[in-house]
Amino acid sequence: MTKDIYDIGEAPPLGEVPAKMWAQVIRPERFGEPKDAFKPEQIDIPEVGPDEALVWVAAAGINYNNVWAARGVPIDVCQVHGKFGEPSDFHIGGSDASGIVYKVGDNVTNVKVGDRVVIHCGEWDVHGVPAGTDPMFHPSYRIWGYETNWGSFAQFTKVQAHQCMPKPPHLSWEAAGCYALVGCTAWRMLMGWPPHTVQSDDVVLIWGGSGGLGSMATQIVREQGAKPVTVVSSDNRGEFTKKLGAVGYINRKDFNHWGRMPDWTDDEAYATWAAGCRAFGKAFWDVLGERRAPRIVFEHPGQDTVPTSIFVVDTGGMVVICAGTTGYNADVDLRYLWMRQKRLQGSHFANDDDAYAFNELVVDGKIDPCLGDVFTFDEIWKPHQLMFENKHNEGNMAALVGVTERGLTDLDV
Ligand code: NAP
Repeated sequence: MTKDIYDIGEAPPLGEVPAKMWAQVIRPERFGEPKDAFKPEQIDIPEVGPDEALVWVAAAGINYNNVWAARGVPIDVCQVHGKFGEPSDFHIGGSDASGIVYKVGDNVTNVKVGDRVVIHCGEWDVHGVPAGTDPMFHPSYRIWGYETNWGSFAQFTKVQAHQCMPKPPHLSWEAAGCYALVGCTAWRMLMGWPPHTVQSDDVVLIWGGSGGLGSMATQIVREQGAKPVTVVSSDNRGEFTKKLGAVGYINRKDFNHWGRMPDWTDDEAYATWAAGCRAFGKAFWDVLGERRAPRIVFEHPGQDTVPTSIFVVDTGGMVVICAGTTGYNADVDLRYLWMRQKRLQGSHFANDDDAYAFNELVVDGKIDPCLGDVFTFDEIWKPHQLMFENKHNEGNMAALVGVTERGLTDLDV
């Protein structure tokens, strides 16, 4: 008989769904640093709709978005849940997972109970997006496990069936659960904005090269036959990116012109700032071994670095950005933008085509998910706290949820 609730690490018989589950829950009254915001609670398992699937979570990936969710900054995600008719008093985060399908809705044909899957985090109104248009531009678009309630920091997660992609059979559950959010985002940034898709021999500058996004971006650029140059804050991180295919790295600690640009009318301050940018550009040439500017700059730090990114990107090149980790007031000297015909392009996660294209590279063994540290279910606050303090190790982090042992590639339940 199915129990009412199972312990962490215990799996119900395949296809049998208990009434309740353990989840790491954020509530508005606990918003703050991750160490205080996450608490384990028992929550009712949600019903699945006709286009949805319920997935038993083997392992969950850790992403920066639930650092934001824990802090309630820049938005209160619980209020977003309420707007979509979901409970607004709690949030179960987690936008990456590997697991096994336990239940599917009546319309679902792409997966069945028992399938081993990894989940991408793009949700939208599957019947409302006009055919032939990009769901990423549709108002119903939202990120599962951030703007939805039912993320992967729980024994079960509710997703739309199209989010379920094949699990790379060669990967452990924790490695399979750690890469989709950052990998698919990096893919769209680098391959989704023609004509600025990475071409063979292109030079690409990648901020935060050893981080989640950066480690995926570095490998995508390498796989396209192009030349990644990374920016990092330590030699350890830099050497890590070289192993992933970076031609070399720049240590951002060697420069101090970061942050908002001085006003263009302040000649002295502007000259000092521009000298910092030129020195950074020279460091880029030195690392690359040739005097070429990057055709694409892969941005996410935002306020601290965008002025430099716009300055160094090649004439006719693109700065593509998906975040503003250091702040949202990114100054652009418009003279460089128009005279050198540069492009500043926003990008956000991925559609199904982007996500499946990236996942195939992982299934084929061409991209390493760069699994770094692995945590237990009870420790889910910890990697978020480390990320918040930028003290985490290289690569992508994961937490074991349904499996309690590392290194398992399959599991019969
Ligand atoms: P991550 O693993 O923490 O990596 C971010 C990297 O940024 C760090 O490794 C750090 O590298 C670098 N960094 C930190 N402070 C910096 C500064 N002041 N200047 C320059 N670089 C700095 O995080 P992630 O998973 O790559 O995510 C990065 C950001 O993108 C987060 O804000 C996240 O929410 C966002 N994101 C957005 C999307 C989307 O679809 N819109 C998708 C994924 C992630 P060094 O200290 O070594 O330089």
